[in-house]
Amino acid sequence: MTSESKPRVYLVATGGSISFVGRTRTDYTNYSYDGKHLTIEEMLERVPEVHEFAEVQAEQFLNLGSTDVTPEHWLGLAKRINQIFKDDPDAAGVAVTHGTATLEETAYFLNLTVKSCKPVVVTGAMRPPTGLGTDSDVNLMDCIRVAAAPQSAGRGVLTVLNNQIQAARDVTKTNSYRLETFQAPDFGFLGYADSDAEVVYYRRPDRAHTADSEFDVEGIEQLPRVDIAPAYAGADGLVIRALANAGVDGLVAAGLGSGGSPPPFMAALKEVSDAGLPVVIATHTGTGRVMLTRRFTEDGYIVADNLTPKKARILLMLALTKTKDRAEIQRMMLTY
Ligand code: ASP
Repeated sequence: MTSESKPRVYLVATGGSISFVGRTRTDYTNYSYDGKHLTIEEMLERVPEVHEFAEVQAEQFLNLGSTDVTPEHWLGLAKRINQIFKDDPDAAGVAVTHGTATLEETAYFLNLTVKSCKPVVVTGAMRPPTGLGTDSDVNLMDCIRVAAAPQSAGRGVLTVLNNQIQAARDVTKTNSYRLETFQAPDFGFLGYADSDAEVVYYRRPDRAHTADSEFDVEGIEQLPRVDIAPAYAGADGLVIRALANAGVDGLVAAGLGSGGSPPPFMAALKEVSDAGLPVVIATHTGTGRVMLTRRFTEDGYIVADNLTPKKARILLMLALTKTKDRAEIQRMMLTY
């Protein structure tokens, strides 16, 4: 294959365990302590095989642990990816490296704000490149491979780790250390970046995303502030009232089970909601829908469907860039 005939993949690096440098080969827990990272060029040097199937244009967008990633970084990253597709109509796709701690949040934000059907694929690693049995190199290779594959287009932003390709909306980190941590517990994964080098799909997400999204971050410098209030036995209204008094723009309640919470918690929610704060009810069960029950409808809440609290927060932040109308925000919760 000549270089001209290979798909051009932009590789945008942000840091994470996939780039962290530990002190020893058995350091799986303290490697972020020194704050030392490989650059994206050093990461690529470890997998020269990628040049067999893609022309890679690498850039170091950030080099942070993903616990340091903020909504301001999401805005910058979405704008950068939109710019790449604008500047280079021949770009095949974009691969993003990221820490796993907030990977699903960044991926879902991009799913709602990248204005292209072309593949955008996010990866990370559970073991740093310096660790024995690291997944860093293979995940980087898979990410570039999936971003280069035409069959990845039109499926929204994807993640790939452990050879499994997942939809940004549905994927979540389910385990603190295992390689198979990224799962979509309600629906399963979409396809494989497989051992025979094939990128194969079996399903595509149905909810709106990317080119069909109504959200546009181009002129936005700061997102509305939305926080999450978690419910548990005995939870009262302290956190909810503190957040409302601090002036947040919206609130997601991570409710129990089907979304309900202890009475003092619900009473505070009703109080802040009646005072005009948009409140979305989600569940922290990890799977299943929160439905528009009689109580939630009468009390004027928005429900998160089966978005996790963290994903509902992202969608509410973007929704609030367009409207405060609760019916409109509810429509958005059921659209994306
Ligand atoms: N601390 C890392 C991060 O950047 C963890 C990881 O990448 O897995 O999120």
